Amino acid sequence: MRITVLGKSPAWQDAGGACSGYLVEEDGYALLVDCGNGVFSKLRHHRDYVDVDAVLISHLHADHFLDLVPYSYALSYAPRQQPVAVGGWPGTDSPARPQLYAPMGAGGLFRQLASAWGDEDLIERAFELSEYDGPDELTLGPVNVRFCEVPHYTRTFAIEVRGPGGRLTYSADCSPNEQLVRFASETDLLLIEATLPRPERTGMRGHLTPAEAGETGRRAGARRLVITHFSDELDSDWARSEAGAAYRGPVELAYEGAVYTLPDRAEVGGA
Ligand SMILES: [Zn+2]
Ligand SMILES: [Zn+2]
Repeated sequence: MRITVLGKSPAWQDAGGACSGYLVEEDGYALLVDCGNGVFSKLRHHRDYVDVDAVLISHLHADHFLDLVPYSYALSYAPRQQPVAVGGWPGTDSPARPQLYAPMGAGGLFRQLASAWGDEDLIERAFELSEYDGPDELTLGPVNVRFCEVPHYTRTFAIEVRGPGGRLTYSADCSPNEQLVRFASETDLLLIEATLPRPERTGMRGHLTPAEAGETGRRAGARRLVITHFSDELDSDWARSEAGAAYRGPVELAYEGAVYTLPDRAEVGGA
């Protein structure tokens, strides 16, 4: 399994960066986990967008789904997606229409969003949308996908992708919680948010500090820990050391273009 970070910014992009998006590839199958603002452009550096088999959305916050809009325009209007020859491309009777899995209520929200400029079914025309609801398990090509609801400001699901190469657990956005510790138990790679320089001072909690991300990884027994969803305005050395102290081991910081391979390359040779 090959995991490529397309975007690791929080709700506002790093300079030159993108919000949440992770490309997961296994045996030729491609899954895009989250599609936040900036992700579509980053995806194009790594894989042809018509060759993405499915997109999974963890929750309906803009920084996790907003680039479904330009992605839908590409699938609708790119010359090679047209039924008749145009722009130097032959016509096609079978334009790409990737599957799209998003939490319950997604269809209504997507229609509401695109109806603001009079194109209500933009996203559902471009993608084959299915809404999921927590306990669902999916088999997508060579991988199995499971969801675990985690506490955040809107209904949010941590996502597990398990394939022949190993098991990835993605926290999505969440406050400290036991569900994620159990869900990520002994996972091969825990990709976990570490948004905050300190816990929220008021209101309900919705995110983790690097130390809380490290603590979650340690308690879950995650074999490898990568923190993400932090701003380039946060001191990365500080974040790494806070997370590492709590994890009691080395912690990696997600960066755009980073690739993680499961099993770890070092293990492939059997050394
Ligand atoms: Zn977010
Ligand atoms: Zn969020």
